[in-house]
Amino acid sequence: MNWTLVGASTIAAQYMIDAIRAVGGGEIRHVISGSADHAATYAKHHGIPFAGTDLDQALADPEVAAVYISSTNEKHFAQAMAAIRAGKHVLCEKPLAMTPQDAREMVLAAEAAGVVFATNHHLRCAGSHQAIRDVIKAGRIGRVLSLRIHHAVELPGNLQTWRINAAGSGGGVIPDITVHDADVVRFLTGEDPVRVTAMMAASGMGQGVEDSAMSVWALPSGAMVMSHESFTHPFAGTGIEVHGTEGSIFARDVMTQRPIGSVELVTGAGRDAVPFPDHNLYEYGVRRFVEATRGQGTPAATGWDGVHSLTIALAVREAAETGQTVTIASPGVA
Ligand code: NDP
Repeated sequence: MNWTLVGASTIAAQYMIDAIRAVGGGEIRHVISGSADHAATYAKHHGIPFAGTDLDQALADPEVAAVYISSTNEKHFAQAMAAIRAGKHVLCEKPLAMTPQDAREMVLAAEAAGVVFATNHHLRCAGSHQAIRDVIKAGRIGRVLSLRIHHAVELPGNLQTWRINAAGSGGGVIPDITVHDADVVRFLTGEDPVRVTAMMAASGMGQGVEDSAMSVWALPSGAMVMSHESFTHPFAGTGIEVHGTEGSIFARDVMTQRPIGSVELVTGAGRDAVPFPDHNLYEYGVRRFVEATRGQGTPAATGWDGVHSLTIALAVREAAETGQTVTIASPGVA
């Protein structure tokens, strides 16, 4: 299955091109960018045969079956809809779109066209998060009472562009990181928050968009989530804790793009390290996507998962903007 890359991005350069090639079964034939020069330089550097600015031309290539979209966020909707119309399977970066309504439209269009549509939520692809989920599902911590997410990092200098100053491109830490944390909570608990309250700040990096957010979410079971995301914390480290009636899980350095960190289970019986596989997160996601296009299983994160995570993230932003607790209506998931 051959691929077209839409967006000559850092994430593709750092992780996704390697992941697509590692999974194999096809080649990357095109890269499309808003800038012809950037596309050409990028294609040469990454050994991609065709580069340009004309998405429709690339989509007309019958040799291509899959499109990976990693442009800035405001472009995802139109690019995904064009790819779906062309009958291509789509792996789209998070946040899927600027609004949950657009994200829903993308997913419904893919369903109507009979193509696979997936969201590139990498954290649920990590062995660490899969191990945490297994511990919870096995009942080893009893009933889940609360989760605490520490996802305050320092945004690398090369990424301090649209993310920190361009609301119209989907900048801000909430669409960038809170959206991932929303997916993690959904993945680990199987629950969608029903109410959120939040505060946000521009604490040194954000210009016109938030660079930090703290929020509290209520899950239908009664469990609560406390979530912290930031671009401005060089030394905070990342982690997630899940606390239950019979035990607690402490996972350090796991809100990351690499298969690192540690997971520890604490119960009345003592403290135990929880082993987990150290596979590449992005390869795992691409493999699940490719298998889904062959009719084998579902993507690691479906389009609907992306609709939900965006709905939650934007509820957090609305709560922070208004100072009100926001009730999250069901996004109408089938
Ligand atoms: P980048 O800023 O690296 O790239 C975004 C776009 O900016 C590119 O697609 C390109 O536009 C343009 N661009 C970048 N570098 C140049 C350049 N040197 N000259 C001209 N244009 C340039 O963003 P990221 O790779 O960090 O993010 C892209 C998407 O991926 C976002 O939606 C983000 O949320 C998501 N992402 C997901 C991650 C994950 O783990 N799932 C991790 C990081 C990002 P054009 O499209 O025109 O080529």
